[in-house]
Amino acid sequence: MQKTRLIIVGAGPIGLEAALRGMREGYDVTVLERGSIGQGVLSWGHVRFFTPFGMNSTQLGRSIASAERDEDAILSGEQFCQQYLIPIARSQELAGRVLENHEVIAVSRAAYGKSKRIGRPDRSESPFRILTRCPHEEKIIEADLLFDCTGFISQHNFIGAGGIPCPGELALPANAYNIPNINGDSAAQFAGKHTLVVGSGYSAATSVRLLSKLTKTHSDTQIVWVTRGNRPLPIPELSADLLPERIQLTKAANQLAVQPDTCVKWLAGGQIQNIAKDGEQYLIELNNVDAFDNTASQGRAHVLRVDNIVANPGFRPNTNPFHELQIHRCYATDGPIKIAAHLLGQSSSDCLQQSAGGLELLRNPEPNFYIVGSASYGRDSRFLLQIGLRQIDELFSFLTAHRNVIS
Ligand SMILES: Cc1cc2nc3c(=O)[nH]c(=O)nc-3n(C[C@H](O)[C@H](O)[C@H](O)COP(=O)(O)OP(=O)(O)OC[C@H]3O[C@@H](n4cnc5c(N)ncnc54)[C@H](O)[C@@H]3O)c2cc1C
Repeated sequence: MQKTRLIIVGAGPIGLEAALRGMREGYDVTVLERGSIGQGVLSWGHVRFFTPFGMNSTQLGRSIASAERDEDAILSGEQFCQQYLIPIARSQELAGRVLENHEVIAVSRAAYGKSKRIGRPDRSESPFRILTRCPHEEKIIEADLLFDCTGFISQHNFIGAGGIPCPGELALPANAYNIPNINGDSAAQFAGKHTLVVGSGYSAATSVRLLSKLTKTHSDTQIVWVTRGNRPLPIPELSADLLPERIQLTKAANQLAVQPDTCVKWLAGGQIQNIAKDGEQYLIELNNVDAFDNTASQGRAHVLRVDNIVANPGFRPNTNPFHELQIHRCYATDGPIKIAAHLLGQSSSDCLQQSAGGLELLRNPEPNFYIVGSASYGRDSRFLLQIGLRQIDELFSFLTAHRNVIS
């Protein structure tokens, strides 16, 4: 009997865990990765996780990667890739099954377009037809079972007012959306310079904290930190947070923002209206801020002159490749509707408090298609790897129990 062909899109931590489990369960597994293994995590490779290694990995993965690390160890993204993801992808178990530089461009059913057999399980009679771009060709790959593990890091949000690009934003270099690597090539770009950081999450907090360290060698380094919304601190401090790394990050960034005589000036509630280049510098037009005392003042405009922009407004999944499938998505988060509704019902902003929610949340109208990992959260930033790893576990328990349904 021919094995069920399982295609996994994305060789991040969740796609690779799915591949290992798929091989164990006897599927014919292929992972299609548009770049290199762990590309999403490597994009912030110089930053340390705030969750310990044990929460970001599984026993199966650790045994395959021979990762003897202390489970309490806090790794950087780069270390996690080198010591865990790459050994898994290159392991004997997955030999020849992880295809790098294979970007999935579009997916449908071979015999049925999006509007055929609406919501019917018998769409699965026709295999998935996957257009893939490889270095020298485009090709079609077929699958019986398909997992979207594409994450969300490949597509960032925008810092312009209302979440769309403001005039001038589309001309920013792509690396303006990264967390700066002050120990690498970017150090000279930021040391002794005036930088605008935009964002209200842990990425922005990390950028602010890293940039502030440059004052040790360049005391004239300055940062203006713009956050949306009006709250007493840039990053809410979670009561009874169980992650010491995250507590440290939050406290350090908030202190830099609110204490006098630091290199950081915090502007709360700022809406970025326009970005213009003036020689080597940027002129940023902001409204809704009262300069440097953090009281919202409707309509007041300010113009900042800065040398650099670090834009950390978060990410959104790239849903385009899967558009021809029958997927019910949330109109607010772009995530699959059942998970989005589950998350809306969970009031805590602490991602540690999230539950995976069970297999039913992973199902959507398209049969044998599952969105797992950070892509399943859409724009909701509360995803943690431990949730994605739990999703994989629940999914394979279900698939094993319903093996005869997938053909
Ligand atoms: C600065 C920072 C710090 C973080 N710290 C933590 C932390 O401490 N703990 C934690 O749990 N989480 C943390 N996260 C979140 C973490 O990045 C995610 O939890 C994790 O990477 C999600 O794994 P994933 O496999 O779902 O997606 P990803 O890691 O994003 O992997 C998706 C893969 O899919 C590939 N891909 C995308 N589109 C296509 C396509 N069309 N075709 C083929 N391949 C494609 C990408 O190249 C990528 O390799 C952090 C995120 C950031 C940005």
